Order: sequence, then structure tokens, then C-alpha cells
Amino acid sequence: MDVKVLGAANEVGRSGFLVNCNGTKLLLDYGVMFGRRGTPPGYPLHVKPKDIDAIIITHAHLDHSGNVPSLFVSGNTDVYATPPTFDLSKLLIEDMLKIEKNSHPFDLPEVNNMMKNAKEIGFRQKITKGNATFELRESGHVIGGSTVLVESEGKRMFYTGDIKTNGSRMLREMDLDIGEIDLLITESTYAKTEQKPRQESEKELIDFANVVMDRKGILFIPSFSVERSQEIACVLRSANFKHKIIMDGMALKVNEIMFRHPEYLRDPKVFSEAIKSSTAIREHSERKRAMGEPCVVISPAGMLVGGNAVYYLQQLSFNAKNGIALVSYQGEGTPGKKLLDTGKVSTRGKDLNVTAEVKQFQFSGHADKKELFNFMSKIKGNPKVCTVHGDSESCEMFAQEIHEKFGFEAYAPAVDDTITI
Ligand SMILES: [Zn+2]
Ligand SMILES: [Zn+2]
Repeated sequence: MDVKVLGAANEVGRSGFLVNCNGTKLLLDYGVMFGRRGTPPGYPLHVKPKDIDAIIITHAHLDHSGNVPSLFVSGNTDVYATPPTFDLSKLLIEDMLKIEKNSHPFDLPEVNNMMKNAKEIGFRQKITKGNATFELRESGHVIGGSTVLVESEGKRMFYTGDIKTNGSRMLREMDLDIGEIDLLITESTYAKTEQKPRQESEKELIDFANVVMDRKGILFIPSFSVERSQEIACVLRSANFKHKIIMDGMALKVNEIMFRHPEYLRDPKVFSEAIKSSTAIREHSERKRAMGEPCVVISPAGMLVGGNAVYYLQQLSFNAKNGIALVSYQGEGTPGKKLLDTGKVSTRGKDLNVTAEVKQFQFSGHADKKELFNFMSKIKGNPKVCTVHGDSESCEMFAQEIHEKFGFEAYAPAVDDTITI
């Protein structure tokens, strides 16, 4: 078995791994790397659709799913994923095409063609293609999100995609019962950082929300529409938060998808109660009216890039009674990062000082250093380990520490490297 690294090497974005099982070729993920402002998006190394026997999408995030439609310009390869992954991938890819018109090598017909070739599978369902057998396992990272176990000719490889070993309020823990493996390709996003325990972050957020409500303010929580928004609603409701919770933007479509797949949630009842008791904004005219009393507004975009976030920032930033809670990762160069670093937002071309109270909370969907090492300690066998999906420092350091602590041969591969087992 050999694996060619097509992307996500010393970087986060454009994940893609081509697994060759004695002639049977499986493509694991095929994502997008978003360029900084004005620069075009990046993709994994090119593969010919006719050379692939099956495509497997670990989860819907665009750095894993976003470039899959490029393989369906003329192709008709089987593509495997869980049902929620297909629903969410379609939503996110179509949204990407709407926002970045004509900047990708495919359009809506290719997305439809991808969906026509979709083969929905559940966790732990074994599929055999030619010389390869594979199955998906629960990853704890996002609804329907999975890891991949591939077996061929007595060798077993495990690809993590993105993982959150502890899961979350919405999702069950990662499935760690994978048996002996010969190759591990692991994400490294937070390999060098420890996050606050989730309960602490939850408590801090609830306290902040109550402080803002007590002073009759409105708390704006810009949040990723896939899952973070729903999780924040669940955190507040589970703490018996009495005030109105408003949900806006694409998070509402994600709510619908999550309602369709309750078996993929840790506790469908908690989710359902939290969402049903919140107020959905479907038209612009409802927005202002909904904010007539102290309340929480959960709306994309998580990093304040576009979406309805712009509207809420204008309405809520310049009143000291209000609060802004940043609960998503804030990338360099984004308005969210700028707000954190300078306390300013740009409105209509001008930088203005925000008077609302701004706080950041840690709610990462990725395993942190402690969780990654806990995962490593559960690994059976003596696998080669490749550290990917992290900045180069994280990938290099993680590989080195894995070697020191567990004795495995470990390294951070480069794009176009091939690993043979
Ligand atoms: Zn992800
Ligand atoms: Zn990712």
C-alpha cells in the first residue's frame, strides 16, 4: 500500500491523500485552500478522475470537501461519505460558489453530478472496492464527520481527517477502537497548544451572557454556521438561560440538516429543545424587531467576514451595554482578528472604536495537544506516523514528540511525498 500526499502538508487546507492498494486507488478528501484576500484559492495536486476507484469525504468542511466537484466535470466515480456529510457538503460548496463566483474550476452542474454519484454509508460499515476495504469511524469533530480505516493485503492505514477526541455537547467522542495499524496520517492543528477544558469555556460564556443581560444589553455571538452556532445555543439553554436566543443566517439551514440526522447527535433532545426555543430570523425586517429586548444573537460569520455579521456589528458595536463574544477561530487578516487586536471595526470604509465589551472564548472543534497525545497513547501496533493539517511548526514538533514519547517513526511529509508500507 502506498499513499501520496496531495495537500495539507505543513498547512491547514486543501486536504487530499491518494491511497494505492495494489492498483485500487482511493482518494481521501479533496479540499480547498482559501487564499488571503484577493489571491485565488488553492487545491490539492491534480488527479485524473478516471484513475480513481472511489472518493471518500471525511467531513463537510470545505478544506476537505470543497474540490470534490472538480472530479465530476466528466467523471462518474463513486463518492462515499455519511448522509450528514453529503447534505452539509452540498450546502457549503454551493455557498462557496455563490460567494466566490467563477473562481473555481467547476460550478453547480458538477456539484449535482457529485451528488448523483453519492454513496451514503454509516460508521463502521465495511465497503470493498477491488483490493481495498475501507470503513468510516466517528471523529467527534463535526456532525457526520469521520475518520477512515483502509485495509489491503494485510496492511491497515488510519487517516484522521479532523478529530475532536472528546466530542462536544453536540457530538459523541471519537471512536478510538481501531485495532493495530501500520500507517497513521494524523491532523496536527493544535498539536502545540492546550485549550481550556470545555466546561470552563462554557461557564465563562454563560457568565458573560448573564452580565450583559443584567445590564439590559444584547450579546452578539458571531459563529460558524455548522455546529458552533448550534452548540452555543445548547450551552446557553442547558444552563437555563432565560432570555431570547436569536439565530440567523446559514445556521438555520444547518439546523434543518441536523434535525434530519438525529442519530448522529450525542443528545437529539437537548439539540431539539435548544433550537425550537430559539427565534429564527428569515427576513431582514425581522432583525431589528427581534432585538427589542435583552437577548443573544447567534449569527455567522464566525470571523466576521461578510454575512449578517456586518449588520449586527453596525447595530451593536457602539453601545457599552452590549457584548460581543468571539467563539470561533479568528484567522489572520480577518475582521474578527482585527477587533480582538485593536478593538476596532471597519464600517463603510472607516475604522471605528467598538464600545461594546469584547471577549474571546475557546470552543475549538479540534483535539488540542492533550487530546492528540491521549489519542496517540491508544494507538496499537508500530505504525509509521505522518503529521499533516497544521502549520509547519505544529506538524514538525508533533512528529518529533510522537517519536520521542512512543518510539514510532514519525515525520511531517511534504506535498507530493509518497509513503509506502
Ligand atoms: Zn474540519
Ligand atoms: Zn480541516
